[in-house]
Amino acid sequence: MNPVDYTLCPADPAAHYFDVTLHIPEPDPEGQRLRLPAWIPGSYMIRDFARHIVELSAISGGADLAVSREDKSTWRCAPAPGALDVRYRVYAWDLSVRAAHLDMTHGFFNGTSVFLEVVGQSASPCRVTIEPPRDERCGGWQVATALQRVDGEAYGFGRFRADHYDELVDHPVEMGTFDVATFEACGVPHEIVLTGRHRADMDRLCRDLKKICEHHIRFFGGSAPMDRYVFLTMVVGDGYGGLEHRASTALMTKREALPVEGEEGIGRDYRNFLGLCSHEYFHSWNVKRIKPAAFSPYQLEAESHTRLLWAFEGITSYYDDLALVRCGLIARDDYLEQLAQTLSRVWRGKGRHRQSVSDSSFDAWTRFYKQDENAPNAIASYYTKGAVIALCLDAAMRRRASSLDELMEQLWSRHGSVGVEEGDIEALVAELAGDEVAEKLAHWVGSTEDPDVASALAELGVDLQWRAPGHQNDWGGAGEGRADGEKPALGARVVAAPEWAGAAKVQVVYEGEAAHRAGLAAGDILVALDGLRVSAADIESRLAAYPVGEVVPLHAFRRDELRVVDLPLWAPPKTAARLTPREGGVEVRRAWLGPAAE
Ligand code: ZN
Repeated sequence: MNPVDYTLCPADPAAHYFDVTLHIPEPDPEGQRLRLPAWIPGSYMIRDFARHIVELSAISGGADLAVSREDKSTWRCAPAPGALDVRYRVYAWDLSVRAAHLDMTHGFFNGTSVFLEVVGQSASPCRVTIEPPRDERCGGWQVATALQRVDGEAYGFGRFRADHYDELVDHPVEMGTFDVATFEACGVPHEIVLTGRHRADMDRLCRDLKKICEHHIRFFGGSAPMDRYVFLTMVVGDGYGGLEHRASTALMTKREALPVEGEEGIGRDYRNFLGLCSHEYFHSWNVKRIKPAAFSPYQLEAESHTRLLWAFEGITSYYDDLALVRCGLIARDDYLEQLAQTLSRVWRGKGRHRQSVSDSSFDAWTRFYKQDENAPNAIASYYTKGAVIALCLDAAMRRRASSLDELMEQLWSRHGSVGVEEGDIEALVAELAGDEVAEKLAHWVGSTEDPDVASALAELGVDLQWRAPGHQNDWGGAGEGRADGEKPALGARVVAAPEWAGAAKVQVVYEGEAAHRAGLAAGDILVALDGLRVSAADIESRLAAYPVGEVVPLHAFRRDELRVVDLPLWAPPKTAARLTPREGGVEVRRAWLGPAAE
């Protein structure tokens, strides 16, 4: 098969345009079809990247060729007399890990945003030339990517290759004046690339990431599945996100989360950043190589449903923070704090009683990825609830002299290159820990019943207590919160509405709680409580000053109509988790968390 050649240039950074030319030596004699994916693996939402192609033309034998549209993502060129050249321009102004972004300071793209697939030749090798920007104001730019380099110096513009289209679009590319630091993990070179203004201590980042990477490599048997790995990181004032790839990850973090020189210890934001790195790196195995059969190969034209995201995202979410404590980066109590937050988020809404994680996985495209104001009442997260199920499964397997670690090891050895079908994981659990545990797992995954997480934690040497959250951002942990049954709460999430001088704007009404009973809705502006002006900043403390059981008037605008409702003063349900080491549980805790368990 003749390779297809792509040449990409950040042609007009000021207008956010990448120009791409595509040379196809042997186009389809019936007329070559070209298409761009509708979604990017790892982010389960239809994004229709083709809508950002603003110009496209085709030439063959020195003459223009007619091009027609077949559907929202597909072009069809008229039959070509010889080799076909296609030129197109892509608008890139989405500062996220999922698409493409170009301005005078840097360029970033995922192949799914910029490289048209030559339909019928997706198995052909791809050659890619990445050209520097022509605008002299963009001097000194370099390139960072896990794409295989063919020529040019390290971080220079030049030629790259991929074995096929699937690989081509799985190596995001960053260009600009970034900072790079390198380290080895189990002998494999790793790079961390930081774009955007920062003062991060890069040596520290390398030291900490090395521990995480080596932990995961050893967890999966000791040899890394890639020759090199790149952490592409966009540093911004406020932002958070990551997307996994086979030999790299694209990350976004807020500047404050990164440690500066001389800083010791691990603050909450840095802990979250390391958790994110750990999460995406774990995905190098769990979802990039051990994958749902539905993704082998990926079908990128339309939604690709699987009921298994709870395993690929939930188990990964379970191990991301667990690895941090196991490799000694965070203390036991920090880990228990993170775990308590996960539990509290799962328990906060009624959604977990409406949707199983199996259904949540299936409906990711239209529910989890398109959350509205009713989401906490309507959906379960296959991330957080999936992580809770992973925890319960781990405890149940340990009781049978096995563990989730062992399950992952087996999944890696049996499904590293064979897709995972529904039921495969339960079958493997049955083999390792018996039918009873497998049946339990099937029930947790397929039903909306709460797993007995308190018993699971007790077996892992941890006590769980539930208390009422002290305020709307109280996600449990070690905090004492309010004394049970004492203080009333709104039963809604509010934010300050600047156009209403900081009055409380309702974001979410929790079903079955006070705001629901009063008839409040998302979008309502709460202006007075008991006849006195109220704001987002003080509504919770004002309410907490009343005794439970009474009713107070609450003035609220719905659109431009002022209404007064009776707000019952109810205590909130106990949904904040508190985790503490169980007396006498050192042995089991150590087996689970490692030496930090003491
Ligand atoms: Zn993930």
